[in-house]
Amino acid sequence: MTTFKRVDVHVEGIVQGVGFRPFVYSLANRLGLAGRVHNDVNGVHIEVEGALAGVEEFLTALERDAPALSAIERVTVVSGEPAGHRGFTIATSDPAGTRRALVPADTATCDDCLRELADPADRRHRYPFINCTNCGPRFTIVRGLPYDRPMTTMAAFGMCDDCAREYHDPGDRRYHAQPTCCPACGPRLRLRDPRGTELCGDPIACAAALLRAGRVVAVKGLGGYHLAVTASDERAAAALRGRKHREEKPFAVMAADLAQARLLAEIDDTAAALLTGRARPIVLLPRRRDGAPAAGSAAPAVIPAVIPAAVPAVAPSVAPGNRSLGLMLPYTALHHLLLAELAEPIVLTSGNVSDEPIAYEDDDALTRLGGIADAFLTHDRAIHQRTDDSVIRPLPGAITMLRRARGYAPEPLALRRPVPRPVLACGAELKSTFCLAQGRRAFVSQHIGDLENHDTLRSFAEGIDHYCRLFGIRPEIVAHDLHPGYLSTRHALEITGVEHVGVQHHHAHIAACLADNGDPGPVIGVAFDGLGHGTDGTLWGGEFLRADLTGYERLGHLAQVPMPGGAAAIRQPWRMTAAYLRDDHPGLDVARRNAERWADALHLAATGLDSPLTSSAGRLFDAVSALLGIRDKITYDGQAAIELEQRADPAETGAYPAAVTTTSGPLVVEGGDLVRAAADDLTAGTDPGVIAGRFHNGVAAAITRACVALRKSTGLTAVALSGGVFQNALLLDRTVQRLRAAGFRVLKHVRVPPNDGGLSLGQAAVAAARDAT
Ligand SMILES: [Zn+2]
Ligand SMILES: [Zn+2]
Repeated sequence: MTTFKRVDVHVEGIVQGVGFRPFVYSLANRLGLAGRVHNDVNGVHIEVEGALAGVEEFLTALERDAPALSAIERVTVVSGEPAGHRGFTIATSDPAGTRRALVPADTATCDDCLRELADPADRRHRYPFINCTNCGPRFTIVRGLPYDRPMTTMAAFGMCDDCAREYHDPGDRRYHAQPTCCPACGPRLRLRDPRGTELCGDPIACAAALLRAGRVVAVKGLGGYHLAVTASDERAAAALRGRKHREEKPFAVMAADLAQARLLAEIDDTAAALLTGRARPIVLLPRRRDGAPAAGSAAPAVIPAVIPAAVPAVAPSVAPGNRSLGLMLPYTALHHLLLAELAEPIVLTSGNVSDEPIAYEDDDALTRLGGIADAFLTHDRAIHQRTDDSVIRPLPGAITMLRRARGYAPEPLALRRPVPRPVLACGAELKSTFCLAQGRRAFVSQHIGDLENHDTLRSFAEGIDHYCRLFGIRPEIVAHDLHPGYLSTRHALEITGVEHVGVQHHHAHIAACLADNGDPGPVIGVAFDGLGHGTDGTLWGGEFLRADLTGYERLGHLAQVPMPGGAAAIRQPWRMTAAYLRDDHPGLDVARRNAERWADALHLAATGLDSPLTSSAGRLFDAVSALLGIRDKITYDGQAAIELEQRADPAETGAYPAAVTTTSGPLVVEGGDLVRAAADDLTAGTDPGVIAGRFHNGVAAAITRACVALRKSTGLTAVALSGGVFQNALLLDRTVQRLRAAGFRVLKHVRVPPNDGGLSLGQAAVAAARDAT
């Protein structure tokens, strides 16, 4: 009867780069066990032997007390013969075999590091690159696996004796912290002018002085360069817009801490948790001052005008026409130092010109941002993966991910069922992501951007290669959109030796929502977005589908309308007002404002010339936005609908009626009824905020009535909501409320965006489900 035991333990999940080996080491030592631990390509491998009770306690504590940043997916334990280990050691990593280990996302500076940063006695006092096992750069610096220093962009920095001692001391917080460094051996911060010449003085203090003087400073972050100005400085913010060619799309603002953020926006518990969490996304929040309304319009002061004396107000050019503000808190030591020095919030927007991808390589940044930034706060730690900030909109008790990137990618989403063969899904065109699925994991890439840009397309292709290498995936199935012109579709079709699977755009949206929720369907899928390639030669975008992961049936849609002038109608929402109203409401302001081409648009709509038919919900929102004088022309995707939502009076409970006809063929929702009711109210002098409120409620009511009718014909009692239109918090909230009141189970997005950024997950789910049947 032996009381001595030996086990081999294999741990999979996010267990590299998160302090797992030191944790195992100290646990084994505490329990008096011998053996060794090392990283391998699948995770962490442990051989441990000693007294039976100790080994049992070891296995319990391994999962119970695992480090904060780890996420254990699976523990495999095999008993074996004792090998006679003396003591417990950490062995070198084993790079052989299949690469299935996971790379953590980048993580905000932890409290311990912040304490050292502020401590004059600490050797990393005010060192902008301080990090430890619990925080710092990860995904953005990893070039390959296993996740060890030589495979990161920190390989260029040899550790000094002090850092090496900490790195090799299992009792130290920096034990095997791969990016660890200090002022003696690590990256150095520099302030440069646009020609690359180093400016003298303390870079942080000088950068802060420049910001205070109204200058634009490019700041190298974790996943790329940002452009910064002082948030209260209208001249600087306006200059930044001009130089960036970004006319109206809101800028994000970084505040020093939660207290400073609270002076700018309403922050509830959900929002506070997001702002201070380790991912540190941009969080869209209601502003605490009278949100500067769109030019020429007088928005009702729904948000109380509170301008605290302590912090200067946010300049109007920061987020024009928006009642909400995108806020984030510092996530690197560099941010903390800069914000503390400046003592007021800054605009921190992606370092690019208009729709180009964010600059992340130093030379490229100097070239591309040289005409925008007056100075560059930069350093010599390379960024390997370009990664934008994530954007989240908190809802009561829930969140909507609008852009999934830094802090989240590349951590995989768990799938309900393992995929039979590895899948690559190439996504759509705008807000592009790709998805690689293997086993029960779906790796949705970080937000890559709009593929029509050459640089973005290159990022997309390189990103796919990087993920394939990093996670050891060789796709056998490649899924893509049905749109033949999408560059993502073309890229997919150029890959040879694989099976190609085309997935209809709106089916992919609903499948993404199902995969997001781990639900197999079938459901009534409501896919409301801008435009997607339909199977009948028209443009879809207001769809009611019976859908599961393998297939779908189009049960209904918004009534089709012509888009007068085709793509021009996307950029000029007033054309959609003309298409919806025709000659019905003479004397409207929208017709007067666009008098030159109004008759022409009516003619195109009536004859169908250069006017493709669409059932798009996005275009319906556009029509009402222009009708109310909110937005005749747009400068960024979705702007008219976004500003319409911003103008809607959330207290309004009235709802415009829309006919839902079910005579023959698919059910049809008459969106035109909503536009005409809005026009009637406008003519009668009703406040545009009230009209916008009634319109939102009317859309929610129409969706619910359609779903009730479809429940009768299909027996389905669950509804999945997806598509970019459901980024609209007011619409989402009203729709969910009405559907629940009508007895439906409602699925909405949580982990991936409802917009096209989530589409690749849906495509992968469909391709895998079809492969399994
Ligand atoms: Zn730390
Ligand atoms: Zn050092």
